[in-house]
Amino acid sequence: MARKHPKGLPILFFTEMWERFSYYGMRAILVLYITKEAIGNNPGLGWSNSDALALYGWYTMLVYVMSIPGGILADRVLGQKKTVLIGGILIALGQLTLAIDNMISFYSGLTLLILGVGALKPNISTMVGGLYREGDPMRDKGFTIFYIGINIGAASAPLLVGYIGETIGWHFGFGLAGIGMILGLFVYVWGQKYLETVGNYVPAKKIEGTKTNAPLTKIEKDRVIVLLISFIIVIVFWAAYEQAGGLMNLYTKEKINRVVFGYEIPASIFQSVPALFVIIFGTPVAAFWVKHQLKGKESSSLYKMAIGTIITGFGFLLMSGASLEAASGQKAMLLWLVGAYLLHVIGELSISPVALSFITKLAPVKYASIMMGVYFAATGLGNKLAGIVGEFATQAGEFEIFTGIFVFCVLFGILLLVFFKKLKALTHGAEDLKLEHEEA
Ligand code: GLN
Repeated sequence: MARKHPKGLPILFFTEMWERFSYYGMRAILVLYITKEAIGNNPGLGWSNSDALALYGWYTMLVYVMSIPGGILADRVLGQKKTVLIGGILIALGQLTLAIDNMISFYSGLTLLILGVGALKPNISTMVGGLYREGDPMRDKGFTIFYIGINIGAASAPLLVGYIGETIGWHFGFGLAGIGMILGLFVYVWGQKYLETVGNYVPAKKIEGTKTNAPLTKIEKDRVIVLLISFIIVIVFWAAYEQAGGLMNLYTKEKINRVVFGYEIPASIFQSVPALFVIIFGTPVAAFWVKHQLKGKESSSLYKMAIGTIITGFGFLLMSGASLEAASGQKAMLLWLVGAYLLHVIGELSISPVALSFITKLAPVKYASIMMGVYFAATGLGNKLAGIVGEFATQAGEFEIFTGIFVFCVLFGILLLVFFKKLKALTHGAEDLKLEHEEA
């Protein structure tokens, strides 16, 4: 009989779904709002494209980099549960501040959002891990379910907030993103009764076997080292994957034939495709890895992450195919793009939820949230790097960039596979199943 997930999971699922609705909804209209001319109907700020993209790059990096202080606040002072609550309140206030039309509100709104996401995002993820016991085989699945929640928010928000923002008014869009976060806060506060045992502040001296300020043991140090190495995979992966919003987005607009049954699909709609694929393929990909593991085949997190990087790389090979087809001046088939996003998402599902789970298994308890914070900061660097790589395309050409990313990801993945046994040894069996916890 299949075991049940803890009752706290749906609470964290819906809280994070609404938080991501708020985040991705706002993100979808941010650049559009900034670049829209400052006069006329539904005016924006009238900035240039490059200024808008620069602010966007800094914003998407900073929200994740602030996960480090967010993690420290949770580990050292408040515990994850309270820090998530404060983060949610700051996000809601930030979005509502953006709903007010003036420059002071614009900058203060963004600042509140950066602080709020930094407090909420890493800590809610650590709390998911806290719902499961050590060695519980349900943990990875729990993270996949949580990840699907994230993507329900991410898939629906650009459509809804984007529509309201562009047609009714930007500030109504920001307001709607704020309402999303308020709904998330309601779920979170209501669900506290299911979260009693998780995310509470534990002073270091009370953690079993840990003395205050005791140095890390050799095993703990090895585990931190392997986590930090895995964060390099994370940077490479997000630098490739996040081409979606920049280079691949522009490429879709200019060089992909988007006409289906006589109707031209707007390029922005394709921004929801990866999130939609996560919702569809999240469970099958997780089930594939569980089967793989039950057959006794290699399925440690590092292995999945290496394979995920290679699969993502092949997605870029399809984009190279599109560039070859478009080189003759005609537009490339839509299938190239959809196929690329599909491979990217299969890669993502073998990396992103896996990494979240991996961190909660390996991080020493007293640094649990900080390690999660560093992880998100790594994804933030990946995002920024993605922008820099994408910019090169204007000089180097799209074919060269897509092929370059393909070659890099595949070689990097192979390198990881070559060394992966050595890396796995550093985990000291943290991923071994403790089957005595299983009821079935
Ligand atoms: N798309 C995922 C989310 O929004 C992962 C983002 C990340 O790790 N930077 O949660």
